Amino acid sequence: MYVELEEEDARPSSTSGPSKPLSCPACNSRNIETLNYGRRIGGAIGTTAGAAGGFLSALSGARAGAVAGAAAGPVGSVVGGAIGAVLAGLAGGAAGAVTGVAVGTLVDDSILDNRHCLHCDHTFS
Ligand SMILES: [Zn+2]
Repeated sequence: MYVELEEEDARPSSTSGPSKPLSCPACNSRNIETLNYGRRIGGAIGTTAGAAGGFLSALSGARAGAVAGAAAGPVGSVVGGAIGAVLAGLAGGAAGAVTGVAVGTLVDDSILDNRHCLHCDHTFS
């Protein structure tokens, strides 16, 4: 059973909190974009790291699949190994991407100048 989380979508984006300025501190322009470098980079790194980790678990996944498939003979062993490897690899990549985005979001919020003024090219956090 899933409990629906309507809060995330229902909340308007303008209520991001008083700590985050919505206008440029240099020229007061409201033409601001959010860069989210950390989130993007984190997602990419996380996917790569996750896929690398997924590769290792893919090896054991292949082994487990091969053992399970062996009951159906040599062909079952090969097919089972391939399915086990793909499933383990996909799971690793997806988990890595989620982790990377979460870490990158933290970096965006705490370290980087995450906002960019489209009017005067000023970056600020
Ligand atoms: Zn500006």
